[in-house]
Amino acid sequence: MNEKNNIRTQNTQKSAKHIQRQSNEVVVSVVIPLFNEESSIDELISRLEKTLVPFTKNRYEIIFVDDGSTDKSRQKIKEHHQRNSKIHCISFRRNYGKSAALQVGFKVARGLYIVTMDADLQDEPEEIPNLIKKLNEGYDLVSGWKRKRYDPFIKVWSSKLFNLVTSIVSGIRLHDFNCGLKAYRKIVIKRLNVYGEMHRYIPVLAHWDGFRVTELPVQHHPRKYGKSKFGAGRFIKGFLDLLTVMITTRFMQRPLHFFGTIGTLITVFGFIVNLYLIIEWLLGRTYLSNRPLLLFGITLIIFGAQLISIGLLGEMNAKSLAEKVDYNIKDKF
Ligand code: UDP
Ligand code: MG
Repeated sequence: MNEKNNIRTQNTQKSAKHIQRQSNEVVVSVVIPLFNEESSIDELISRLEKTLVPFTKNRYEIIFVDDGSTDKSRQKIKEHHQRNSKIHCISFRRNYGKSAALQVGFKVARGLYIVTMDADLQDEPEEIPNLIKKLNEGYDLVSGWKRKRYDPFIKVWSSKLFNLVTSIVSGIRLHDFNCGLKAYRKIVIKRLNVYGEMHRYIPVLAHWDGFRVTELPVQHHPRKYGKSKFGAGRFIKGFLDLLTVMITTRFMQRPLHFFGTIGTLITVFGFIVNLYLIIEWLLGRTYLSNRPLLLFGITLIIFGAQLISIGLLGEMNAKSLAEKVDYNIKDKF
């Protein structure tokens, strides 16, 4: 344990050297979405302060986004705010979900680096310096990887499946897309727009926006206080969201490439099926009236043509939105 702490202190000192900025600038903003987590707040804040004060030379801010809590979370944070003005809280009037909370936190965060974490202490605040050190190796987003995960069995395994599919579909080799603990350069969060339940796909969105994304193994712990707000039962919705992410990132400017490719393949297959039947008929080998395959072929052609039409409609939409496309510019001379 002592050795672990020593390594952490060394890391903290090393990374602090990277940060030589103006004295009044906020170096690290920590954004924490929370929904009824009153029992962990005191410990969370005290551990954050212990980590951030030396690491940022007191140039940090902690932004809680209270997602409509009905317990004493807000009052507790307020007490801390009165003691330490670097601790802030934005409270929603109702529960909008984790994505909404993150997005509102992103809008107000001022730091050069932004770290997000859950409020339940399943992740360690002491990992923050390691994440930022990793950013400084040349990345824009570092996502935590709960290599050994302490959650219910069903959640761990459904999450493994989710991560595998997301990794294959998105083409990003990450093990853990949905870890609450992540570090970003400011530019990334200012371009992100998460809503609904899109927070699960933040690394995918950032990757498709041209940012360099990587992961770092982090410690994970069982929930000490309160209850989990997410079960394992959200996977169908999760995968539908993945489709949305694909369409709105990779194919936003070229919808016909997505719908048209599938549509053309299906139509061509339908033509081949019916061509085969027509040849059989011409050769006098069969009557079309007793070949169900004919209906199959016709259905394929109609379905394929519909997909192509949807793609064309998408293209009309893309053209009218083209002026609003916001290209992610890396550098200008
Ligand atoms: N959370 C939130 N709004 C919600 C649900 C969750 O802000 O509607 C917060 C929650 O308080 C916690 C984080 O999101 O800080 C992750 O939630 P949880 O720990 O329940 O998820 P799990 O770790 O079980 O996946
Ligand atoms: Mg949790």
